[in-house]
Amino acid sequence: MAVEIVQVGDVVLRQAARPLTLEEIPRKDTQQLIDKMREVMRAAPGVGLAAPQIGISLQLAVIEDRAEYVKDIDPQILADRERKPVPFLVLINPQIVERSADEAEFFEGCLSLSGFSAVVKRARGVTVEFLDREGNPQRMEARGWFARILQHEIDHLNGCLYIDRMQSRSFMNLDHLTRYWKDLPMERVRKELRLDLSVPGGQA
Ligand code: ZN
Repeated sequence: MAVEIVQVGDVVLRQAARPLTLEEIPRKDTQQLIDKMREVMRAAPGVGLAAPQIGISLQLAVIEDRAEYVKDIDPQILADRERKPVPFLVLINPQIVERSADEAEFFEGCLSLSGFSAVVKRARGVTVEFLDREGNPQRMEARGWFARILQHEIDHLNGCLYIDRMQSRSFMNLDHLTRYWKDLPMERVRKELRLDLSVPGGQA
């Protein structure tokens, strides 16, 4: 059965998701849910998926950035975004324990805001603590696009969407992103869209 990705406006995307207990992690239903989330993420396709996006309010997210997703993207753009492949990763009860002071601004999208994109400022590096799918504690440092994905997915588990943090004047549909903006340096995007006038994003 196809799983629908919940779109913005559904309350599940605004709830703080419940942490999993150590007893729940090895259970068959939890392990099957992880496999289902990987399948839904790949089918979308997306580089991350949080359980609330399929209507389940649990602190569980999956991430995977495959080399094939970026094969047609200009190498300079990938270098600017510090985007490198990320192997499949399961995050249970994740917490961001450190954020770098340096930040980066790029267009970002979300499977739950289908067809739209906006510029979001995020920390360039984060340290995350979480449990893996065996329930083992893990600590991971991430930089660049991977750090952005982590922040985006962990936001979902706390009921936060990128629109809460976006530069509001940069919000646009994907046709226009592709047609006018996606290949421009961020400096030029910032100047032409006059992002200095954006209403500051929420502090959630
Ligand atoms: Zn999202």
